[in-house]
Amino acid sequence: MSAETDYAAIAKSDPDVYGIICAEEERQHDTLELIASENHVSRPVRQAVGSVLTNKYAEGYPGRRYYGGCVNMDAIEELARQRAKKLFGCDHVNVQPHAGAQANAAVLLGVLQPGDTILSLDLAHGGHLSHGLKVNMSGLLYNIVGYQVDPKTEQIDYAEVRRLALEHKPKLLISGASAYPRTLDFSKFSEIAEEVGATHMADIAHIAGLVATGLHCSPVPTADFVTTTTHKTLRGPRGGMIMCKADWAKKCDSRIFPGSQGGPLMHCIAGKAVAFAEALKPEFKTYQEQILKNAQALGEGLESLGNRLVAGGTDTHLMLLDLRPAYPDVSGKNAELWLEQANIITNKNMIPFDERKPMETSGLRLGTPALTTRGLKEDHMKTVAGWIDQVLRAQGDEAVVAQVRGDVKTMCDQFQLP
Ligand SMILES: *Cc1c(COP(=O)(O)O)cnc(C)c1O
Repeated sequence: MSAETDYAAIAKSDPDVYGIICAEEERQHDTLELIASENHVSRPVRQAVGSVLTNKYAEGYPGRRYYGGCVNMDAIEELARQRAKKLFGCDHVNVQPHAGAQANAAVLLGVLQPGDTILSLDLAHGGHLSHGLKVNMSGLLYNIVGYQVDPKTEQIDYAEVRRLALEHKPKLLISGASAYPRTLDFSKFSEIAEEVGATHMADIAHIAGLVATGLHCSPVPTADFVTTTTHKTLRGPRGGMIMCKADWAKKCDSRIFPGSQGGPLMHCIAGKAVAFAEALKPEFKTYQEQILKNAQALGEGLESLGNRLVAGGTDTHLMLLDLRPAYPDVSGKNAELWLEQANIITNKNMIPFDERKPMETSGLRLGTPALTTRGLKEDHMKTVAGWIDQVLRAQGDEAVVAQVRGDVKTMCDQFQLP
């Protein structure tokens, strides 16, 4: 397989890098991508990100730049903003965050003083490192109180969140998760925040595509801030974004630039603009609906083979497989490794109240956004569930892995990458 023709220049000038790009293209073609935070962007998005916009410094915001020559930068950033506003219905948007973690850091810098308290979902229960990991900027600068899921339902217990909020009086309440399969009730979080005088930041990094198409409730009407990545279910380039109420607009912008970033990545902002336009099309809603149908099919397929899903299943694009009941001797680490040998790409993940260590884990996180982009449907999900089960049941037995890898390759050859 060879890369597309516009790679001719790099192929000639830098065969080392070109070789690695080709190898990665081949790897993506030959594997089934089940990492819930990944996707395959369209060619137009890739072309925008690979464009000459990477050459330009544009510190500041449209109409208020610190460099000359920004006329086209103003145009592209304004276009990205307008499209984002249309997509999510927000008052104000900042499209400059380099990634999701930068979006969250800017909100924290805007709302909090060092030492202030944040109430956020425990990382071992599905939270994100930018919500308070000890060695992340959030955990280093602020006092973190974590809420956990209910031990029985493995779902968020809003009465418990409220109890902790009343007890600890956080200045910031964070909702949103990286490994939580169920619907989040953002209006409940907003109510709790209001009751205790906290600001509410909803982080929709994972579910942005579902929110944009109305398939998951939106926090935009009630939360003070909504942060997201643009590269997960939203299927844009790597990047972040902050939406907020008009009152917070100035603070939000100043904490991105000059608060925590220098020049914006204008080529990525162009990619975001392209992705937002794609997301505004009816086909994108059909795509998001298929993500959900595929997640249901994959979950049911796994359950029918004796597996247990954390929280009893999924309402979203992702699920957490509790490996213990069906494969008691298989850790998440081994599961990830053996499945990769069979060309099925997943990631190990802690499950709530996990007894194994973070580098071992008893869980596996699976998501359907990338496979759905590729064109796979419910029937294929049942097949994939069967392959996962075969590899894990055989504990990575070489013959079984080789057999599955062959079957995976046959399926991959039927579905081209965008
Ligand atoms: C992925 C993710 C982020 C940020 O991701 P980056 O890797 O910094 O782009 C933030 N919050 C949540 C909940 C996430 O899942």
